[in-house]
Amino acid sequence: KEDKDEEYNIRFFTSEMEKEVQERFMIETQLRKALENQELSLCFQPIVEISKNKLEGAEALLRWKNVKLGFVPPEKFISIAEETGLIHSIGKYVLENVCNFIKSMERKGLPLIPVAVNISAKQLENRNFAETVKSIIEYYQIDTRYLEFEITESVSAGNMKRIKENIEKIKDLGIKLSMDDFGTGYSSFAMLLNLQIDKLKIDKMFIDNIGKMREEKIIRTILSMAKELGLKVVAEGIETEKQLKFLKDVSCDYGQGYLFNRPMDINMFEEYLKIRCYSKGKSPDNFSGSVC
Ligand code: C2E
Ligand code: MG
Ligand code: MG
Ligand code: MG
Repeated sequence: KEDKDEEYNIRFFTSEMEKEVQERFMIETQLRKALENQELSLCFQPIVEISKNKLEGAEALLRWKNVKLGFVPPEKFISIAEETGLIHSIGKYVLENVCNFIKSMERKGLPLIPVAVNISAKQLENRNFAETVKSIIEYYQIDTRYLEFEITESVSAGNMKRIKENIEKIKDLGIKLSMDDFGTGYSSFAMLLNLQIDKLKIDKMFIDNIGKMREEKIIRTILSMAKELGLKVVAEGIETEKQLKFLKDVSCDYGQGYLFNRPMDINMFEEYLKIRCYSKGKSPDNFSGSVC
C-alpha cells in the first residue's frame, strides 16, 4: 500500500509540475506577442485621503487579455515578464501610456492628480532605466509632480548598486517613490535606510486582519514609525467600513480599496474624475466603461 501511495504521489506531483511548466510556456509564448497585438491595457484605481474623503491620486494597474488564455492576472504574467526580459518593453509601454493619460487629462481640462506606476526590480537593474524614463517624460512634457513610482521589497534581492543609481536619478527628476506591499518582505527596514522612499503602502494582508489585536498593533507601529521618518502611509485593499473606521481612528493618511472603488478602465476613470471633482458628488455607479 505504501509503495502505491508513493507512486501515486510522484505521479500526481509530476503531472502538477508538468501542467505548471506548460502553463508558463503558454504564457511566455503569448506574452511575447502581447505588445504588438495590442492586448495590454491599463486601468486606474483611486487613492483617497482618508480624513477628508478627498481624491489624492491613482494607481495604474496593467491588464492583459489574450485570445487563447483569456484574461491573465498580473500575478501570473509579471514574474514571467521579468524572467524573460519582456518586462523592459512592457514597463516602457506602461510608463508611456500613463504619461499619455496624464497629458490627456490636462488637455481635457480634467483635474490633475498624481498617478503611481508599478516598477519591477528588474527594470531598476537596467543600466538605461533612468535615461529611458527621462526621455519619456521629456517627450510627453510631464510635470513630475504627477508621477510616482511604486517599488517592492524584491528590489533588495537585486543589484543594489545599480538600483540605487537609478533611484537617485529618478528622484532627481522629481518623481516620488512609494514602497509597495510594505511589511511582507524580509528587508523593509534596510530599504527604508538605503533608498529615498517618500511613502509606504501597508500591504492588504495587514488590512485584512484589522480586528485582531496584534495586526492592529503592527499597523499603529508602522504609522508612528512612518511619522517619525516623515513618510506618508497608504493602506491597501480596504474592503469594509470597519477597516476604514480603524484606519481613520489611527490617522492613516491615505487608502485604496474596493470600498472606495475598484480599478476602472480609462473611460470609466475619466468619467469618475469629472463627477468626483466637478459635482463634489459621491462615487458614480452607472456610467460607461467597466471595472477591471
Ligand atoms: P499592487 O501594486 O500591490 O496593486 C494592488 C493590487 O490590489 C491590484 O491587483 C489591485 O487591483 C488589488 N486591489 C486593490 N484594492 C483591493 C481590494 O479592496 N481588495 C482586493 N482583493 N484587491 C484589491 P492587480 O491589479 O491584480 O495587480 C497585482 C500586482 O501586480 C500589483 O500589486 C503589482 O505588484 C503587479 N502589477 C500590476 N500592474 C503592474 C505593472 O504595470 N508593472 C509591474 N511591474 N507590476 C504590476
Ligand atoms: Mg502597487
Ligand atoms: Mg501593493
Ligand atoms: Mg500587492
